[in-house]
Amino acid sequence: DPELSGEFQTLLTWADEVRKLKVRANADNPHDAAKAREFGAEGIGLCRTEHMFMEAERVPIVQEMILAETLEERQAALNKLLPMQREDFVGIFRAMDGLPVTIRLLDPPLHEFLPDLEELLVEITRLRMTSDADKRELLKKENLLRKVRTLHEFNPMLGHRGCRLGIIHPEIYAMQVRAIFEAVSIVKKEGVDVQPEIMIPLVGHVNELHEMRKLVEEVAEQVQQETGVSIPFSIGTMIEVPRAALTADQIAKEADFFSFGTNDLTQTTFGYSRDDAEGKFLHQYVDQKILPDNPFITLDTEGVGKLVSMGVQLGRQTKPDLKTGICGEHGGEKRSIQFCHNTGLNYVSCSPFRVPLARLAAAQAALSAERS
Ligand code: PEP
Ligand code: MG
Repeated sequence: DPELSGEFQTLLTWADEVRKLKVRANADNPHDAAKAREFGAEGIGLCRTEHMFMEAERVPIVQEMILAETLEERQAALNKLLPMQREDFVGIFRAMDGLPVTIRLLDPPLHEFLPDLEELLVEITRLRMTSDADKRELLKKENLLRKVRTLHEFNPMLGHRGCRLGIIHPEIYAMQVRAIFEAVSIVKKEGVDVQPEIMIPLVGHVNELHEMRKLVEEVAEQVQQETGVSIPFSIGTMIEVPRAALTADQIAKEADFFSFGTNDLTQTTFGYSRDDAEGKFLHQYVDQKILPDNPFITLDTEGVGKLVSMGVQLGRQTKPDLKTGICGEHGGEKRSIQFCHNTGLNYVSCSPFRVPLARLAAAQAALSAERS
C-alpha cells in the first residue's frame, strides 16, 4: 500500500482548507475503510454489500438463497448469512469510528451468483450420455437447470436487481438491516460512534422507496427494542436511473439523502451497456470525436450532468437541506469533481486510492469558482 509523503500531506491540508465538497470513499471491507481513512476520507459514501456476498465460502449459501423455492428455504439461507453480515459491519464500523457510513442494500446482478448455464448444460449432457450415471445426481442437476432458467435474464443489468429484489423478497433486505443494527449495537457498547446511513439502490419510482423505507424502519425499530440500544440513522436513495432524477421532488419526500450513481445513470441515459460499450465501440467513438470523452470515465455534463443537476434542484425544492453526493466512478475524476462542486453537491465518494486526488480536485474547483 502506498504512503503519502510529508510534503504531499501538507499540500492536502491546504486543499482541505479551501474545498467545499466533502470527500468520502467507496469501501466494503475494514481494510479498505482503514486505508480510505488514512488517505483522509471523511466517511464511507458507498459500501456495496453485494461484494460481501461474493466471498468463496458464502457463494453456495447465496445460491441457496437465490434459488430457494419457498420462503422457509430462503429464510434458512438468510439465517446462515446474518452472523457473517453482522461481522462485516462490525469491522467497518470499528474502522470508521466517528464518521458516517453509507451502506447500500444488496444490488446484485443475479447472474453473477447463479451457476453457469453453459457448464450446467454440458454436465447434464455428459450425465445423460453416461450409461451408469447416478440418476439422482442427474435429476438434481436437471432441477437446478430448471430453476436457473427461470431466473435467467437477457439484460441482467436492467433486470431484477437493486430495490426490485428488495420489493419482491423483503426478507433479504430485512436480514441486512438486522445485521447493520445489531452490529451498531455491538460496537456502541465498545464506545464506537456510528452513524449508519441506509441506502436503497436503483429506485425509479417513489413507491419503491416508500416500501423499502417502511421495511428499514420496522426492522430498525425491532432491533432497537431487542437490544435496548437507541440508534440514530438515516435512509436515502441512489439516483441512478433517469426517472429518479426526473421525479426527484417526489422521491425526496421519502429520502434523507441522495447519492448519484453515475455509472448506471450513464448506462441508462445513453442506453450504453456499461459491461460492453467500452470493449465494442466507445473507444472508437472517442477517437473519431463522436463523443468528446468516455462518459463512463468523465461525467457527460450536458446529458448525464443535466439529470444530476435536475435531481439536486428538484430534491431541494422538496427538502432545501437535502444532502447530496455522488458515488459513481466519476466521484474520483478531476473534471467530474469540478462539475459536482458547481452543481452544489455536498460530497463525492471515490475509491480509497483516489481520495487524495479528490481532495485536491475539490480544492481546485472551489478556487476556480471563486476566481470566475
Ligand atoms: C453507480 O451505478 O454509479 C453505482 C455507484 O453503483 P454500482 O456501480 O455499484 O452499480
Ligand atoms: Mg449502480
